[in-house]
Amino acid sequence: MKTPEAARRPGFPLRLKPDTGMLSAGKNMADGGGFTSPKSLNGDRNKLQKPPLTGLGQDSHAIRARMVDKLAAQGLADPQVLAAMGLVERHRFVDTGLGNQAYEDTSLPIGLGQTISKPNVVARMLELLMRGQSGKLGRVLEIGTGCGYQAALLGQLATEVYSIERLRGLHDKARENLRPFRLPNVHLLFCDGMLGYAKGAPYAAIISAAGGESIPAAWVDQLAIGGRLVAPTQLAGGAQLLVVVDKTAQGVRQTVLEAVHFVPLKSGTN
Ligand code: SAH
Repeated sequence: MKTPEAARRPGFPLRLKPDTGMLSAGKNMADGGGFTSPKSLNGDRNKLQKPPLTGLGQDSHAIRARMVDKLAAQGLADPQVLAAMGLVERHRFVDTGLGNQAYEDTSLPIGLGQTISKPNVVARMLELLMRGQSGKLGRVLEIGTGCGYQAALLGQLATEVYSIERLRGLHDKARENLRPFRLPNVHLLFCDGMLGYAKGAPYAAIISAAGGESIPAAWVDQLAIGGRLVAPTQLAGGAQLLVVVDKTAQGVRQTVLEAVHFVPLKSGTN
């Protein structure tokens, strides 16, 4: 290969933005802007307050810290992923009536028959995407913006995020949900994600929140050499399984992991 692999990796050098801590919707919120430093997430757990799970606002910071503790107890260990999950306010992405369930390990409806995955599954997929690397990912493609929650997390983990949604109603909702977080590196696109997004390629990572019967060829084409793709896929008409695709100079390696339950990947827009 003529081009060294490192030089072909996307995202380097891309403009690196300083961490602003702007993960909360506005600075004047009662919960102190929702900022939790990664350090404090790993701090003395006994010092965590235990607010009732029904109360958000003032308590949402501590509730998220408790969610992160649970994720860590379940074996999730990537410090960047856990820090992002401690920062992004999940309750702002679900209907107000569901806000008090936002930090439970449960999937929730987000409208138009779609769901936001439970935190454990979101963290697991992001951890697979990160592969334990200490720095940020380069450019990332997300298929299935939904309410925008995972896009906000990816905004912390990658230098640039392209997130595609095929349902206009959800694309608009995600735009509204994400606006107050002011994440200039997260780009929302209304189109058919089955085709990927060639203009942003090659991607260091591709993640799908919807599962098809196979992994679209466009995704693998748009993945950088050295890049990784994580997607739920219904293999051979059986159960939906989490599939990881690693693209190397030698070819493509597919790893099949545990069973998952994601909404179907559909073509076209609506
Ligand atoms: N990551 C999202 C989860 C959304 S659920 C979140 O954090 O909220 C999966 C989403 O994938 C749905 O909104 C669904 O409309 C979308 N989807 C399904 N097929 C798609 C396609 N071909 N292109 C783009 N989005 C698609």
